[in-house]
Amino acid sequence: MKKTDRDWMLEETIRAYRGLDDDALGVLKAHWPADRVRQEAIATVLAERDRPSITCPACRMVSYNPNDIRERYCGHCHQFHNEMP
Ligand SMILES: [Zn+2]
Repeated sequence: MKKTDRDWMLEETIRAYRGLDDDALGVLKAHWPADRVRQEAIATVLAERDRPSITCPACRMVSYNPNDIRERYCGHCHQFHNEMP
């Protein structure tokens, strides 16, 4: 499936919002009530925080894959966390 401009914008916004804390997201949510992309990004980021996840110590990528969590593996570095330099 080809990504639309909106998909790219949403991904970009989600990436940016992952760095914000819950308070900051709350402010944005109130500030942009009519912006569908921003609202969807905020909802996605907040939903992610309720799920178990693992953050790679090397590249900071967050994974929600249960296998990655169990094995402490990073799909971006293709390495197990305890094998990292
Ligand atoms: Zn990594």
